[in-house]
Amino acid sequence: MPSRRKFLHASAAGLAGLATAPLAGAALPPAPAQGRPVVISTWDAGLNANRGAWKILGPGGYALDAVEAGVMVTEAEQNCCVGLGGNPDRDGIVTLDACIMDDKYNCGSVAALERIRHPVSVARRLMERTPHVMLVGAGAQQFAVAQGFALEPAQLSPDAEKAYAEWLKTSQYKPIINIENSKIRPTGPVGGPQNHDTIAMLAMDAQGRLSGSCTTSGMGFKMRGRVGDSPIIGAGLFVDPTVGAAAATGQGEDVIRMAGAHTVVELMRQGRSPQAACREAVARIAAIKGAQAKDIQVAFIALNAQGESGSFALQKGFSYSLSTTDTPVLHASEFLLK
Ligand code: ASP
Repeated sequence: MPSRRKFLHASAAGLAGLATAPLAGAALPPAPAQGRPVVISTWDAGLNANRGAWKILGPGGYALDAVEAGVMVTEAEQNCCVGLGGNPDRDGIVTLDACIMDDKYNCGSVAALERIRHPVSVARRLMERTPHVMLVGAGAQQFAVAQGFALEPAQLSPDAEKAYAEWLKTSQYKPIINIENSKIRPTGPVGGPQNHDTIAMLAMDAQGRLSGSCTTSGMGFKMRGRVGDSPIIGAGLFVDPTVGAAAATGQGEDVIRMAGAHTVVELMRQGRSPQAACREAVARIAAIKGAQAKDIQVAFIALNAQGESGSFALQKGFSYSLSTTDTPVLHASEFLLK
C-alpha cells in the first residue's frame, strides 16, 4: 500500500503535470462569436421581452443588462405565469421564483419571493452585492426591501382572483403545467394564448458575452412553499461562457431531477448543436417519465458560444421568440411526442 506521504507526492506531481500538459482529447473552448447579438426566449411573451432586450443589445450593450431588462417586461405584464399578476399558490398567495447568470459564472437567485414586482432584479442585486447565490421566502423579501425594492400590496390581479375563485370551487390539488393549447386563463386544466409559462431568456451581445435569466410565478395553485426549476441554477438556467447557455420551461420537478439546463450545456460541450442538445435532454426526461411523459410539458432553449440557437419540447405547443435584429420572430418548437 502506498504511504500517505507517497500518495500526496504522487498527487502533487500529477497535478503539476496537468497544469502544463494538454489533456488528451480535450478540445479548447471555441472562440465566442463576436459582432452578432442574438436573444432567444420562451413563448410568445418573449416577443415583447426580446424587444426590451434588444434596446440594450442593438446599440452594443451588455448581455446581462439585456436579459434583465427583457424579462422585466414580462414581469410587469398581466401574465398568468410570471410576475405579480400570476396565479397564486393554493393558499391564494403569489410567490415568485427567478434567477440570472452572467458570462463569468456569477449567478443570483430568489425563490418563493412575495410582493416584489421584479424578482429578476433582486436576483441580480444578490449576485452583485452579496457573497450568496440564493435567498428564499421571507429572507429574500427582507433583502429586497433593504435594497430599496418596493413592497407591493398583497393582492391578486383581477384575472388571478377569478382563476383562484374558480379553482377553489373544486379545490382539488392538481396543478397542471401543460396549458399552452387551452382556451382561457388557467384555473387548472385550461390555459390560453396569453397564458404561457415561465419566461426564460438567453442572450449574446456584440462582444460575444453570454447571459441568461429566468422568472416565473411557477405552477398555478401549487403547494405553499413549492419551488420549481426556474430559480435553480443548473435546472431552469445555466450559462457556461466557454460553451453556451440553456434554459427550461414546463414541469419544474422533472427538469430539476435531471439538472436540465446544465445537461443541455454539457451536451453542447460534447459537440451537440443547441437543437440536438435540447432534443437529447427532452428525450432523457421522456425516458425517465415513461408512460407519464404524455401528461407533462417540458421544453428547453439553448444558445451556444458561436451564437447558434435551438429549442426542443416534449409536446406540441411550445413556441420561442428569436431576435437577430430589432424584429423578434416567433417560432413553433419541434417536439418529441408526435
Ligand atoms: N418551470 C416552471 C415551474 O415549474 C413553470 C413553467 O415553466 O411552466 O415552476
